[in-house]
Amino acid sequence: MVSRGERRPPCGAAGNLAELAELDEEALLGGLRERFLRQQVYTDVGDILIAMNPFQPLPLCGREVSERYRRQETGMLPPHIFAVASRAYYGMLGRRGNAPQNQSIVISGESGAGKTESTKLLLQHIMNLCKGNSQLERQILQVNPLLEAFGNAQTAINDNSSRFGKYIQLRFQNNTVQGAKLSEYLLEKSRVVQQDIGERNFHIFYYMFAGLSSEEKEMYGLLDPSLYRYISGRFGTSDAAQCWKHKYQEVCNALDMVGFQEQEQVDMQTILAGVLSLGNVTFEPEESDGSVKVSEVSQGWLKAAASQFGVQEDELLNCLICTMSVTRGEQIQRFHTQQQAEDARDSIAKVAYGRVFGWIVWKINELLAENVDPEVELREIGILDIFGFENFAVNRFEQLCINLANEQLQHFFNHHIFQLEQAAYKEEELPWETITFNNNEPILNLLLAKPVGLLSLLDEQSAFPQATDKTFVDKLNSSFKASLHFQPGRGRVLCFSIIHYAGKVQYTAGGFLEKNRDTLPASVHGLFINSVTPLLSVLFKATISRTGTLMPHVKAKVIPGADKFNSTRKQSAGAQFRHSLMMLMERLYSANPHFVRCIKPNSQKEPGVVDSQVVLQQLRYNGLLETIRIRRDGFSWRPSFEEFAERYGILLVKPDVSLTKESCLEILQSTELTGWICGKSRLFFKYWHQEQLGKYVERLERAA
Ligand code: ATP
Ligand code: MG
Repeated sequence: MVSRGERRPPCGAAGNLAELAELDEEALLGGLRERFLRQQVYTDVGDILIAMNPFQPLPLCGREVSERYRRQETGMLPPHIFAVASRAYYGMLGRRGNAPQNQSIVISGESGAGKTESTKLLLQHIMNLCKGNSQLERQILQVNPLLEAFGNAQTAINDNSSRFGKYIQLRFQNNTVQGAKLSEYLLEKSRVVQQDIGERNFHIFYYMFAGLSSEEKEMYGLLDPSLYRYISGRFGTSDAAQCWKHKYQEVCNALDMVGFQEQEQVDMQTILAGVLSLGNVTFEPEESDGSVKVSEVSQGWLKAAASQFGVQEDELLNCLICTMSVTRGEQIQRFHTQQQAEDARDSIAKVAYGRVFGWIVWKINELLAENVDPEVELREIGILDIFGFENFAVNRFEQLCINLANEQLQHFFNHHIFQLEQAAYKEEELPWETITFNNNEPILNLLLAKPVGLLSLLDEQSAFPQATDKTFVDKLNSSFKASLHFQPGRGRVLCFSIIHYAGKVQYTAGGFLEKNRDTLPASVHGLFINSVTPLLSVLFKATISRTGTLMPHVKAKVIPGADKFNSTRKQSAGAQFRHSLMMLMERLYSANPHFVRCIKPNSQKEPGVVDSQVVLQQLRYNGLLETIRIRRDGFSWRPSFEEFAERYGILLVKPDVSLTKESCLEILQSTELTGWICGKSRLFFKYWHQEQLGKYVERLERAA
């Protein structure tokens, strides 16, 4: 194996903790803390970047620094998020004898750890690397305020928390960006109708109140913000209002830039105003027959909502207070209870908001789509910014989906770092102590297996009209009796627990079936299709693809399995999520990955403070401690003899270098590289060897 006296990478060494002689939990934590307190928030562990949230603007991320990382070899500079962007960019181009390859950057970390800020810095630097200064490059950077206004909100943990996950694919022809595509995952629609203490609704609502003139508010039918239940009591100070006003302007600029017609912008804001009015509709029992009616005081809100949605008031009322069904050719009207009426109101608000968000993403994709000959082969850099593992006091269906996504990503990480590594050594008959790591495959199976995985059982139950959350939990209890990763709930609340890779999470089962069915009553669908507000009608005529992506009807392509939006034939929420997750994983597995692990140094959002317990827990969740060992002792680059001799044969400065093991050894002996090993069919290098070899090639080319 490798001798310990091997040469270190020429530089960056100070910032790479994989090179500490003794690397354990203490040393890692100590190293990170020491660097953080010197405002060095970026640290490499092998080729994984750890980014500590500074909770303050640092000069470290400015334009000049980006320039420096553009002009200089990344290996000559300290660890940085810009260095990751550069490696992905040059990897995509295939510099220094490497074949061009699609790249992906996976950013993980818990809420408030800095994933979204890191994503912005990556995009900014990649656009700086392209340097085409094209309109498209600017547009890619400018859509962000729009996405954040509609998809982010203030939570107890993060003032600008992303309430959806996103994967951005940048597409390149040679070194210029030709287009971009955005995929969104699981917008937290429930936030539209309800927020916990200390949290707010999506930013856009507050921006509108702060940014619209009185005339505009009147036009949209917006009254004083304190009147609206969906945002009530959560309006801020005048400072906040000033900031929101500015943000509103930014959103308007972005809407113009993305190419939203003026009428579309008006419609969109009218729909949002309609959502708020609808939220104020309350119900009371009808004295005569026990059904419900809209309470006297909220008649005005019903009228306002109907007018803002451009629909008939009595039709909207019908959707709220009763359900129509057809049995044996006969129309049957079933009146709602008060609870059902309130649920109907909230689900209409959520679906309207969700459609608006889906439409914005769709428009952004239209704008950024590449416009090149289909023959041209494009390369890609994908950036994933998705919610971290969640474990709250109450965990629902949404948390299950989020944690499933994190299980998948952890599995991908394990697969990449551990399994590939181990398998390759075995194949080459190299000595290797058996590595132990938490393989989370059994948990993935528990969730995803067919027919007896949690999501499949949920779908099976969702298809039975008589099934309830209780029968679903009974089914889980009997199917997973023997599983080490499942625990039946105790106590009176209907629940169950899953032992995730990052710990045990108890899920409250109430609402699982309802959320998974995700059905929109036909009457609501009909209501909006007939809206005189053109945008609403378009949004509800849209087709939903299997991935849950909205595609307005006009442009809808025929995709196998794409269903026309319809309450009976639509896929369940769980199935849609599983499908979009599988598509994402497919993309990740076919690209060369880069990992960024964001860490929150403390829970108070304080600059300059490191809370060891908070950091340690994240290092464990991230699998970083195990990663360190394997990265330090392992070999991340393993070219075959042919590949190596073909690329680096020029170092021998002679004609006709044969593509054999002997040539490889001859090439390597002509350099001062140490620490590599030779297997049966390939060579094994540390992550820094490639850079060193590149320098030899450069030197040779300069001399020539
Ligand atoms: P969530 O999962 O809730 O979306 P997140 O991981 O995306 O969280 P961010 O929104 O990126 O977290 O960061 C939270 C806050 O931390 C930012 O609003 C900003 O105030 C601060 N922050 C994060 N990264 C940086 C940075 N590189 N420089 C300065 N401040 C930062
Ligand atoms: Mg975020």
